[in-house]
Amino acid sequence: MSLLYAEAALLGLVFGSFLNVCIARLPCHESIVSPRSHCRACGTRICWYDNIPVLSYMLLGGRCRFCRERISLIYPLVEALTALGVVAAMAVYGPSLEFVKCTLLMMLLVIVIFTDLLERRIPHPVTIFGIAAGLGFSFIVPVDNRPLEWALLHTGVVLEGTVSSVVGAVAGGLFGAGLFYFVGWLFIHFLHKDALGFGDVMLMGLIGTFLGIPLTYLTILMGSLLGIITAVILAAVDKRFRSGYHWPYGSFLGTAAIYASLFGQPLLDAYLRSFHGTP
Ligand SMILES: [Zn+2]
Repeated sequence: MSLLYAEAALLGLVFGSFLNVCIARLPCHESIVSPRSHCRACGTRICWYDNIPVLSYMLLGGRCRFCRERISLIYPLVEALTALGVVAAMAVYGPSLEFVKCTLLMMLLVIVIFTDLLERRIPHPVTIFGIAAGLGFSFIVPVDNRPLEWALLHTGVVLEGTVSSVVGAVAGGLFGAGLFYFVGWLFIHFLHKDALGFGDVMLMGLIGTFLGIPLTYLTILMGSLLGIITAVILAAVDKRFRSGYHWPYGSFLGTAAIYASLFGQPLLDAYLRSFHGTP
């Protein structure tokens, strides 16, 4: 069992290393395949032994071997966090299709969390690929579609099995993206503020197709709460974070979605049980 976790951690480190390439290049519309990894400061190609996740950063003392320019702490951080995420997914789901789905979602979200945090950008290639992948996975890993199943209960339309799962993924995507598009429209129309970018709308479409309506709803609640708490604390300690600061809402939503995809279902079931008495 511990071998499984070690493999998951190793997989996470390697994935994290690739995610760093995506985070650095996608906001600049650069290819993530070529050229090979190079120092962002001096352009020197990075040898394999200087490209070992986390370890190389520590051995190099956080500086480029050639120009001695500082390497961003973001790189080892992304690698370590991705490894932690994959180990958590293994602990929750075991070696299963659910694990593969959860890991893919986490990887897409890690890219979005950091591109939004660093550049205030949510790359469309990530969200478009993610929405397609989420729909594809709904055929093999069931998506929670209880809201629609219940809503249609008395209409004679029975949703079950794969059909219900796929409908649940589509409904989740439309719910997430639609809600954010509508709220963004309200802001522009009534407050004349461009508060939500189209990247946020696409991100919620991605989260919705992977998680379905209930967990997407949980994600929005938790992401907003996380954003508000962070904003209040940072604004209290530093005036740079007061009025006019552009918050990376996508980073908060992405973090909440990772939590929801790992631990949201038991939370949701416990909540529903408190209403119905039965799961
Ligand atoms: Zn360099």
